[in-house]
This record gives sequence, structure tokens and C-alpha cells, in this order.
Amino acid sequence: MEYDLIVIGAGAAGLMAAGTAAESGLRVALMEKMEKPARKIRITGKGRCNLTNIKPAEEFLEKVQVNRDFFVPAYTQFGNKALVRFFEKHGVKLVTEQGGRVFPKSGKAWDIAEALTEWCEDSGVEIMTHTTVEKLLLLGTKIRGVGYRTKKGFERRLEAPAVIIATGGASYPATGSTGDGYALAHSVGHTIEAIRPSLVPLETGLADKESLYGLHLRNIRLGLIIDGERVAEEFGEMSFSSRGAEGATVLRMSRKAVDALIDGRKVELSLDLKPALDKQTLQDRITREMEALTPENPTSDLLRKLMPRELVMPIAKLADTHPKRQLKYFDDKVCNALIDALKDFRIPVTDYRPFEEAIVTAGGVAVSEVNPETMESKIVRGLYFAGEVLDIDANTGGYNLQIAFSTGRLAGRLRHED
Ligand SMILES: Cc1cc2nc3c(=O)[nH]c(=O)nc-3n(C[C@H](O)[C@H](O)[C@H](O)COP(=O)(O)OP(=O)(O)OC[C@H]3O[C@@H](n4cnc5c(N)ncnc54)[C@H](O)[C@@H]3O)c2cc1C
Repeated sequence: MEYDLIVIGAGAAGLMAAGTAAESGLRVALMEKMEKPARKIRITGKGRCNLTNIKPAEEFLEKVQVNRDFFVPAYTQFGNKALVRFFEKHGVKLVTEQGGRVFPKSGKAWDIAEALTEWCEDSGVEIMTHTTVEKLLLLGTKIRGVGYRTKKGFERRLEAPAVIIATGGASYPATGSTGDGYALAHSVGHTIEAIRPSLVPLETGLADKESLYGLHLRNIRLGLIIDGERVAEEFGEMSFSSRGAEGATVLRMSRKAVDALIDGRKVELSLDLKPALDKQTLQDRITREMEALTPENPTSDLLRKLMPRELVMPIAKLADTHPKRQLKYFDDKVCNALIDALKDFRIPVTDYRPFEEAIVTAGGVAVSEVNPETMESKIVRGLYFAGEVLDIDANTGGYNLQIAFSTGRLAGRLRHED
């Protein structure tokens, strides 16, 4: 055999796995269906690549939404500090920003993609682009190689005693992550936990939602209400677009919202526009604002002091008033309804956006069938997994790329447990 290892997918996990194996002296082929490696890394973090988060291990692991225990050995062996050292050693200067998020100092995700690719090439990895793996070849319960298609459409085979599936999830398929790894894993007996979009915008059923398009809110508190029960809360920013509700607070609670929608449960967002003010303080603020106005002023003059223009009409409706109505009609009942609307503006969630708009994929290869100490399949010897293809996903903040790098590093060591 020409190669000791075939890695499928040159994303964060695949590049890390391939380089690690090649550095230890193995002959590695890295197959990538796209025209160049790391298409997705190049668009991460709005083009800046939030590659990890510098939070202490316990806090870091809390952000892993599912199968945290499975991830612990990979993270312990190659965690955030090791990753930072790795990139600095390979010439990428990094900076840590608010919330512990780590970025390349240049502000260019491109630098991370290039550093990884160069490191692989320098370590002797053969990167085969325009190469789509379509089959896993087995000899009994041992891996034997892969069947792939070349750029020109020819079917070929390549043999190796070890294969790593690092094909990513099904999100942003234009980057090459089209979910192929699930079919490959399933074809050799692996269970695939149902995949669904995560860190994804949510569609809303607001009556006049178009009027909110383009609205960006900062310093708000957002609650997630499922069947009337508040199940999550986030503080930060959110925005409204033709896609629905998005922004960090929405994305962070989208996983729970998506699962509830799939189960047919009632999902709402509760927007608190004044999280720093309790109801009494808000009441005092409204009284103060009223004192500066006359009874002849329209209610909109008061509302504009309390909220952005786009929210005036929907909140006036909830408070059972109209922006044009004079303030002399603004009584206690309207005032209390206004306070309620400012503290708990309910947004019905009707659906979630598709994989094309999801930052990550929830679900994937069932981790109960993968050894967490090695990333080797418990079903097929010599077959390994790394990255988003596995049923692990985390919140925004650099955690998902770290999952890919940690599991890639471990898989690339090609350890067996007898
Ligand atoms: C817009 C966006 C922004 C993001 N920003 C961040 C961020 O700032 N921080 C963060 O932590 N996470 C971020 N993420 C998530 C993060 O990018 C992913 O979790 C991570 O890239 C997963 O790495 P991976 O190597 O497992 O998969 P991928 O990066 O998806 O790589 C998989 C590779 O496999 C290739 N492939 C697939 N099938 C085949 C096949 N059959 N044959 C050959 N090759 C194949 C694909 O072309 C692809 O190159 C972001 C995601 C998106 C979409």
C-alpha cells in the first residue's frame, strides 16, 4: 500500500488529523472534494475565524451542548491552550477578545486555513483536491481503503490500513460539507443520530414582521419559552431580517428551539427590551418622560424615547393604544400594558431556517459507537472519525472549531485499543 492513512475532508478536523499523522512519519493522503482545502474555515467568524475560546476547561466544556463526556479525552489531550500554542508555533499571531474568543491578529480567517494547509504540505501530506470519496472499502470488519471519484468523473480506489472520516456536517453545503460522511458511516453499520440545523435563525410569526427587517437590538435579554415554560435565557444582541430572528442570543438558543419545533411544541421568544430596569424603575422612567411632554403630544413621542422606531407600532398594539393617540388618554392600564410589552414582547416562532443558513449541524455519527480515547470506530477497525460529522456540537464562541481540532488531533494519532 502506498499510504498508511487516508483522511476524507480537508476542513479543520481533516487538516489537523492529516498533519498530525504525517508529522509522526506516516504517509498520508488527504482527499477533498472542493477545489481547495478549508473552504469553511475561510468564512468562519465573519471572515475572522474565532478558532477557540480561552475559557477554563470546566466553563469551556459547559458550552458543548451534547455528548460532552465523549469529548473530554480529546479536549484534555489537545485543548484551547495547546491549540493557541500550535498556531503561534506555525507563525499565526493570535488575539483574545471579549468573552475569551480567540482570533488571528491579522483579522483574517484565511491565515488559519493557509497555515494548516502549509503545515500539512510541509509534513508530507498529499492533498488531493476535486476528489470525492463515495465508498469505504472493507476487508471483513477492517478498513481497506476508499472508492472515490476524480474531477473528470472517473471512479478510482485507493487502499490504506486506516481511514479518517472528517467530512463535516451538512451546514453551508456550498463549502463542500454536504453530509457525505453520514452516508459513508451508515454504509458500514454506524448509527446516525437525526441531523438538524443548529445555531440557525428562527422564523417568526409576527403579524407585521416585515416592518422589523433590519432592526438590530443590543443589550437585550431574550427568553426561550416552550409550551409556556421559560427554558433558556440569553443576554446580548438580536436582529430581524427576511430570514427571521437572528443574532447571537437567538443562535445560542436555536438548538433547543429547533428540537421543540420538530416535536411539534409551541415555541416563543420573550424579548425584554429593558433588562436593566425592573418594572417599578421602568414605571418611574415613563413618568419622567411623560413630564417632559404635554397631554396633546401623540403617544409615539413617548414610545420613541423608550424603543427603536420599528417597535413603536407592534408595542403600541400590545399596550392597546395607538401611536397617534394623544397622551391625555395614556392611563394606568395602558402604562401597565406598555411595561409588560417592554419587558416581555412575545415573538411566536413558526419554523427554523435550513442547513444552508445553519452554522453547525446537530446530530451525526452516534458517539456510543466510537472510542472517545482514540476516535476509532467500535464497528470497523482502522476507521476513525473527527469533527462535526460526529454527534457533538457546541455554542457560538470558538467552541465548534476547537471540537474539530481536538478530535482531529486525536484521530490523527491513529491509536488502537485492543
Ligand atoms: C458561516 C460559518 C461561520 C462559522 N464560524 C465559526 C467560528 O467563528 N468559530 C467556530 O468555532 N466555529 C464556527 N463555525 C463552525 C465551524 O466552521 C465548523 O464546526 C467546523 O468547520 C467543522 O470542521 P470539520 O473539519 O468537521 O468540517 P468542515 O470544516 O465542514 O470540513 C469538511 C470538509 O470535508 C469535505 N468533504 C465532505 N464530503 C467529502 C467527500 N465525500 N469527499 C471528500 N471531501 C469531502 C468538505 O468539502 C469540507 O472541506 C462556523 C460555521 C459557519 C458555516
